Amino acid sequence: MIYDVAIIGAGASGLMCAARLERTQHVLVLEGNEKVGAKIAVSGGGKCNITNKYVDKRNYVGNLKYVHETLARFDNKALLAYLQNRGLEPVLKKGRFYFCPKSAQQLIDLLKRETKEKEFLLKTKVHAVTKDANKLFCIETSRGVFHAKKVVIASGGKSFPSLGATDVALEIAKSFQMAYSDFKPALVGLTLQREQFWFKTLTGVSLDVAISVNGKKIAGSLLFAHRGISGPVVLNTSLYWKKGEITVDFFPGGDVETLVRKGKKRHISSVIPLPKRFVKAFLEHIGLEDKACNRLQDLEFKQLKRLHAYTFAPAGNFGFSKAEVSLGGIDPEELYSTFESKTIEGLYVLGEALDVTGELGGYNFQWAFSSAVVCAEDINSKSKNK
Ligand SMILES: Cc1cc2nc3c(=O)[nH]c(=O)nc-3n(C[C@H](O)[C@H](O)[C@H](O)COP(=O)(O)OP(=O)(O)OC[C@H]3O[C@@H](n4cnc5c(N)ncnc54)[C@H](O)[C@@H]3O)c2cc1C
Repeated sequence: MIYDVAIIGAGASGLMCAARLERTQHVLVLEGNEKVGAKIAVSGGGKCNITNKYVDKRNYVGNLKYVHETLARFDNKALLAYLQNRGLEPVLKKGRFYFCPKSAQQLIDLLKRETKEKEFLLKTKVHAVTKDANKLFCIETSRGVFHAKKVVIASGGKSFPSLGATDVALEIAKSFQMAYSDFKPALVGLTLQREQFWFKTLTGVSLDVAISVNGKKIAGSLLFAHRGISGPVVLNTSLYWKKGEITVDFFPGGDVETLVRKGKKRHISSVIPLPKRFVKAFLEHIGLEDKACNRLQDLEFKQLKRLHAYTFAPAGNFGFSKAEVSLGGIDPEELYSTFESKTIEGLYVLGEALDVTGELGGYNFQWAFSSAVVCAEDINSKSKNK
């Protein structure tokens, strides 16, 4: 049996690609897990943050060569319309994030309905892909070898190995001598050096902060966690952090000096409108007694201003087991804008397997779906023009 298209991975991009390939295509989807869409199921706290109201190239890092063009061809509005026309009405939260109304399973069920004509082989791990003398791809799997005229690598990144993630995309790239960069954990919490161990006494506390990292300023909620710092603002920071220092403004939009100068006899910790546990720990860390505001010396005000610019170097991150995505992947320079390899005809790469990574907020699913649609359209049109 020779398939027209073999898709490696039944995650977001693999399912969307299978859904958009025409019925005339004989498609085989190979998936290591026993169920499809494992990451969709757990994403967005079980409700899947499908996309964002504002999607732009600037929300991505990596090689952005085709990001604008791809998003323009199947943008957030097109994705929402596609879902709405099939009975899924995403709900807008906080004015910008689109989620499934009830559960991420709604999106998985929709994609399953859209791919019911396609052949799936679950619990099948792909080990390698080669191309034979007849220009056919041979896909070596845990269930034997399959043959196809085209192969779509939709196997994602290396994050969350507990959900079936592997770096088979990079193994395949290496075997075809395609350029790639190793996967690195991203959208992940950051660990601490000894000097910041005082954060650990604050486990469970969260506050809105602004973080400066590599020339970028990111605002949002920070959560003190057992292993370090987490929360949306830290996950986004991890996309841009490459060792070295970050600076946290724990009181963005406020002015601690003015506030405390007006505080008169009140204690510092009752004047600063941040969680008391945090303020007390911060004062202790900078060696300042929690005393009446009018007893502060000028030098002590200087110390207090570190609240707006607390600089430190994280030790590392929580690793692949906790990272929502992976930085790195196959270099888009290897591909045409259709996601087909420039050197290996019939080989396509999609979604997170590519060196394109989005910020938190639905950008990664949007990329997975947009790249899948562009690829499927190319395969469909090529089969018509034959
Ligand atoms: C906990 C968590 C929450 C997230 N929440 C969001 C969110 O709310 N919004 C958002 O935009 N993004 C979110 N993401 C990121 C998003 O899930 C991914 O970016 C997206 O799924 C990537 O799509 P993909 O198709 O490239 O890869 P995936 O969806 O990861 O699909 C890859 C598939 O390939 C399979 N596979 C891998 N290796 C092999 C192999 N060797 N053989 C066979 N099959 C294989 C995997 O089992 C998987 O099913 C989240 C990720 C995690 C881990």
